[in-house]
Amino acid sequence: MQLVDLSWPEVAARAAHTPIILPIAAIEQHGHHLPVSTDSMLLAELIRRISKPLHGQAIFAPLMWLGNSDHHIDFPGTLSARPRHYLDMLGGLIDDMITHGFRRIVLLNGHGGNDIPGRQAIFEARQRYRHRSDLLLLFVTYWDCARPWETCGDLVQHFMGHACEWETSMMQCIVPDLVKEVRELETVSVEYGFAPSYRGWTSKDRTIPGHMGSPQYATPEKGEKLFSAFAEGVEKMIHQMIAWDGHSWNPDNVQKN
Ligand SMILES: [Zn+2]
Repeated sequence: MQLVDLSWPEVAARAAHTPIILPIAAIEQHGHHLPVSTDSMLLAELIRRISKPLHGQAIFAPLMWLGNSDHHIDFPGTLSARPRHYLDMLGGLIDDMITHGFRRIVLLNGHGGNDIPGRQAIFEARQRYRHRSDLLLLFVTYWDCARPWETCGDLVQHFMGHACEWETSMMQCIVPDLVKEVRELETVSVEYGFAPSYRGWTSKDRTIPGHMGSPQYATPEKGEKLFSAFAEGVEKMIHQMIAWDGHSWNPDNVQKN
């Protein structure tokens, strides 16, 4: 169910035992061939697919389109929350949810730049509520919930890039009219360089066109397979949240319903 459809007494009645999902995405450049809303559209589609089978068992907060995209700001159309503002905003929203009685909270992410601040927001919240033993505070990025290359043998990439084979395929699947011709595009490496060190970077350091990965191999059929794999993986993760016994550290300890 959608948070925005509920009255406050309905929220109050459900908060203690129902997982709440806060989808976090972005508006940022996605190369020459995809719209800046790509991450938000893909995460919205994923939620559309999982909210039906989860009917009544989880509450979905509205998708947050503003993410941490400072690294893409050299490319027009990118709108970014500064990293510290973004961290504080997520922390404040987690506080709000806990104030309302929610105990099972997940930030469901659809944008790479949200990964570090999102994990940090969850980590800091745990420290703020360290006296509580009844909280399940999670951060997860949807493409980490499945290994689609194992079931979809024609995928060239075995990782998520940016405006890449995976994202382009999924956009071709849901909004083909918004995807431009990709056959002439060339692969841009996703390597960070200087590994295993982490090198500070802007997108301009790593890509001229804006994409990273191999969008020229995208097809809408691959997009459908990717959505199915990710939806299945995210749904499974939410079922683990539902089944959580309220105190165990490891979901494997949870009794199967
Ligand atoms: Zn993206």
